[in-house]
Amino acid sequence: MRATLFLVLPFAVLASCSSESPSDLQADTTKAKGPDFLAANIDSSVNPAVDFFEFANGRWLKNNPIPSTEGGWGIGNMVYEDIYVKKRKVNEDAAKANVAEGTETQKIGDFWVAGMDSVKADKEGVKPLEAQLKMIDGITGAADAVKVIAELNKLGTDACWSLYVDQDAKNSSKIAVILYQGGLGLPDRDFYFNKDSGVTTVRDAYPGHVSRMLQLLGQDDKTAEAGGKGVMKMEMELAKASRTLEKLRDDNANYNKMTVADFTKKYCPSIDWKSLLTGYGLGAADTLIVGQPEFFAALDRVLKQTPVNDIKNYLRYHFVSTYAEYLGKTIDDENFAFYGTLLEGQQKQRPRWKRVLDAEEEAMGMVLGKIFVKDYFPEKTKKRYSDMVEAIRSVYRDRIKSLDWMTEPTKQKALEKLEKMTKKVGYPDTWKDYSALKITRQSYAQNMMNAATWSFNDRVARFGKPVDRTEWTMTPQTYNAYYNPSNNEIVLPAGIFLIAGVKDEDADDAMVYGYAAASTIGHEITHGFDDQGRKFDAAGNLSEWWTKEDADQFMKRADVMVKQFDQFEPLPGMHINGGTTLGENLADYGGVLLGLEAFKKTDQYKKGQKIAGLTPVQRYFLGYALGWLYQQKEERLRQRLLSDVHSPAKWRVNGPFANVPEFYEAFKVKEGDPMWRPDSLRVKVW
Ligand SMILES: [Zn+2]
Repeated sequence: MRATLFLVLPFAVLASCSSESPSDLQADTTKAKGPDFLAANIDSSVNPAVDFFEFANGRWLKNNPIPSTEGGWGIGNMVYEDIYVKKRKVNEDAAKANVAEGTETQKIGDFWVAGMDSVKADKEGVKPLEAQLKMIDGITGAADAVKVIAELNKLGTDACWSLYVDQDAKNSSKIAVILYQGGLGLPDRDFYFNKDSGVTTVRDAYPGHVSRMLQLLGQDDKTAEAGGKGVMKMEMELAKASRTLEKLRDDNANYNKMTVADFTKKYCPSIDWKSLLTGYGLGAADTLIVGQPEFFAALDRVLKQTPVNDIKNYLRYHFVSTYAEYLGKTIDDENFAFYGTLLEGQQKQRPRWKRVLDAEEEAMGMVLGKIFVKDYFPEKTKKRYSDMVEAIRSVYRDRIKSLDWMTEPTKQKALEKLEKMTKKVGYPDTWKDYSALKITRQSYAQNMMNAATWSFNDRVARFGKPVDRTEWTMTPQTYNAYYNPSNNEIVLPAGIFLIAGVKDEDADDAMVYGYAAASTIGHEITHGFDDQGRKFDAAGNLSEWWTKEDADQFMKRADVMVKQFDQFEPLPGMHINGGTTLGENLADYGGVLLGLEAFKKTDQYKKGQKIAGLTPVQRYFLGYALGWLYQQKEERLRQRLLSDVHSPAKWRVNGPFANVPEFYEAFKVKEGDPMWRPDSLRVKVW
């Protein structure tokens, strides 16, 4: 749910969310064996000119309600359903295998056995966390507290701040130590202030949830109740000093390089950063990149002013919350009631075996990935999508050359960046070495702590070494993709190209150009040129390579997109934030344009034959909408509107399409239709 043990720097990264596809339908698009995959999802009672998303996906959405164990359900889940079954078999086989200690098979098997043993987890209680809880008990003031915070950070607990060891945004060949605001228990700082009644409900419930967790750690009712309030008060102070999601997208404003001595003196005089860094294993670092200096100035004050008891409860809560899912039933259930039910709308816990596989994915996903790609991503498929990246690159090149608003010097640099953009398709060429990770059958939570430690050490070990540009931060079996500006690379895991129920060779080009070339490949490539990505140059450095005139033109044109999305209102009174979601919306829009242009070069487009009554161009747009086939509970939708830089699925389809002339033509959208926009209000960037 909330706890993610391994932090990845929140740059311009990230890509596709989830979507859906029907497993029970016959997958056939080219031959006439069964119902056409795209046609089968269509709700013909909806006019595509009124709401294209509902038209394209409506029948599937009606026939596939969100299971009670889920906060949302869509195409990504269908892909994962299949992967879960395969992974379970790998795990069960590994558990039975007679293999040597330290092998990957031993780790998989033992992780599974420990994870599935709920009786043992119940009996253990919070025993795996004992050493750290004792450390927290011993805190006498702010100076002790920060040392404990650093220890908890190493175990993946994001208390008070976030520490990253990652590429320097302005010098991508160097690894830097980066400090960011952090330490909030609610999903985003806006949860502490937003007046919407649904958000207020969550906020009001939070101190009670914290109290119950403290009770489960052994505090009596009264003490725990006061504790919950104290934690909320402290977090409120941190939230006040935190930047909004929109402001965190300004990479220049969130880059403040300074020496450790200056940072300490100017912002954090009561925290000994030099010795903290040594404790992290980063004693050699003499400079820091500080995301939000004013946050750390506030933190310095908050730590001094907050009663030490509240700080201790804050740390107890955040630590136990990180591992709640891997502990016994009472703590797990309380954590779920808040983060699962209240924030996501899940009525019931997902089956334990799936949750164990999720945890395993987080702990050592690359080990599973090695096995996964053998089954799922043959060379032929890899080649299809590698070629598709080049097809997209080629049409983007032409589009940049013919832009009427960009001047020649900026065009040259943009083209250079496009040429140098690296593609990683399917799976890594080299696999991470997990030999230092210890996994046993003794304790599920302990295994997760070991994995967090392994991951932390792995990141710290990068410091002072040359940057390893072969790394992947997503596993091959992930239904997602990302653009990493520091490496100027797109990373496309094998999982994102799967369509549940359809064999890759059975999927026609029109559908695949919409589903993959547009919504994934074109989307990620465009991230290199969205409002955030465009600030990084061909070598992956944050630097100004646009002329002022071109940058102004870009922002003026992008602003049309901001205004379009500001108007969308997925929940009564709650609008999409066009500024926060701008990068993703631009990437979606670019992806749709580039995918279509590339599709126009295929034989299927040129022949123009209908399949299941649909023209190639219609199938292209439907294929794109299939990539966002997804519905979610109101609770999750509300949460995401405040904490996600992606727009909800429906607007990731209807939003960009309303700017594309071929869409109007393909579905006969006329002036006055809800999907229609006058030419003057359409986005024209690429
Ligand atoms: Zn994206």
